[in-house]
Amino acid sequence: FFSTAPPSLPAFDYEPKPYNGPRADEVFQKRKQFLGPSLFHFYQKPLNIVEGKMQYLYDENGRRYLDAFAGIVTVSAGHCHPDVLNAIFEQSKLLQHATTIYLHHAITDFAEALASKFPGNLKVVYFVNSGSEANELAMLMARLYTGSLEMISLRNGYHGGSSNTMSLTALNTWKYPIPQGEIHHAVNPDPYRGVFGSDAKSYAKDVQDHIDFGTAGKVAGFISETIQGVGGAVELAPGYLKLVYDIVRKAGGVCIADEVQTGFGRTGTHYWGFETQGVIPDIVTMAKGIGNGLPLGAVVTTPEIASVLAQKTQFNTYGGNPVCSAGGLAVLRVIDKEKRQVHSADVGSHLLARLRDLQQRYEIIGDVRGRGLMVGVELVTDRNEKTPAKAETAMLFEKLRELGVLVGKGGLHGNVFRIKPPLCFTKDDADFLVDALDYSMSKL
Ligand code: PLP
Repeated sequence: FFSTAPPSLPAFDYEPKPYNGPRADEVFQKRKQFLGPSLFHFYQKPLNIVEGKMQYLYDENGRRYLDAFAGIVTVSAGHCHPDVLNAIFEQSKLLQHATTIYLHHAITDFAEALASKFPGNLKVVYFVNSGSEANELAMLMARLYTGSLEMISLRNGYHGGSSNTMSLTALNTWKYPIPQGEIHHAVNPDPYRGVFGSDAKSYAKDVQDHIDFGTAGKVAGFISETIQGVGGAVELAPGYLKLVYDIVRKAGGVCIADEVQTGFGRTGTHYWGFETQGVIPDIVTMAKGIGNGLPLGAVVTTPEIASVLAQKTQFNTYGGNPVCSAGGLAVLRVIDKEKRQVHSADVGSHLLARLRDLQQRYEIIGDVRGRGLMVGVELVTDRNEKTPAKAETAMLFEKLRELGVLVGKGGLHGNVFRIKPPLCFTKDDADFLVDALDYSMSKL
């Protein structure tokens, strides 16, 4: 199919600045010496990234890479998008921080703009610094509001690395043996690997069973992603959330949508992942794409639920600081101005179609799935048994890097390529990525 020549990156009009800083070996040694050992996604040969421009990253030698993983699904507007940079610089020159105890319009302007993106009565915003913090706060709200401690989350879900959120997370690769509290992990409504295929009703019945047999009949809440990110871009069976939200609300609980990866237009057409399931949550948590990589997260809920936090002071030193708020507001404006969710839908369907073509030619591709620019390619050594192709995925991951494409790896077995680029990713980029995958697979 291919000549022996590997595919080359699309043209891109940008010159990286000359780099005279420390080289990969030195940085790697210091990283090993001074930073914790929990490195993941690390290439066999460490990659020293020194500059970024929109959907591209540059290493210490000025070599360009297509960043099909957007940092870690954080860079929604594009690396160093000029509007976002400008907003950050302008705010930094005036005031970097004044805590949440004084008035500052950057915070209120951003909260107003963010709240306007939600349907229903989701109008109250709390700012935090990360996805884990957002989910911690959502869990606290649900427990205080309902008077129950029991939470339900999904197997294969990821909700953070703090103690409480790690207990919501249900992927053994990301969990330490800590007390789980009153957490119930329901059967994952995964159309590809799940025991009930795409049958949303059977999966929803499992949530009812947890309530009936694992609790005293009342729950605080249910939390899930709308497309599981770390778990390998797994879409929930169609109609699942509608059924589950009814069940959970009948049991007195609130419904929490974790939009840390799926928010801000990533799923295409819609602003939020939950819209793809036709539901309106009671609490929405977000981070990553909200600030294009700035340390920023948020919880949005109804005035009624938010009022439970009036009992004590709810305080977060950096949450919604002026610099992050200015950056976050600029991100929202970029998404609107550049119609990014429409773009995600358009480029995403092109990418999915090309990947599905590739699936016809390579047995190793067990599943291609996703929406917009939240795409998963699951590799298996046997399509019937769905045996995870761990070693092959690792090899292809390295090969793609050699060709100039950086993707994510995920799923419980690390056999899913996660393609979640900045939302400025183009059809040419998608073609290059698929050609690089094709070329690499042809050499397996
Ligand atoms: N929720 C989801 C869906 C995530 O993917 C992540 C991080 O990957 C988190 C929560 C935790 O976010 P953070 O790493 O910012 O704490």
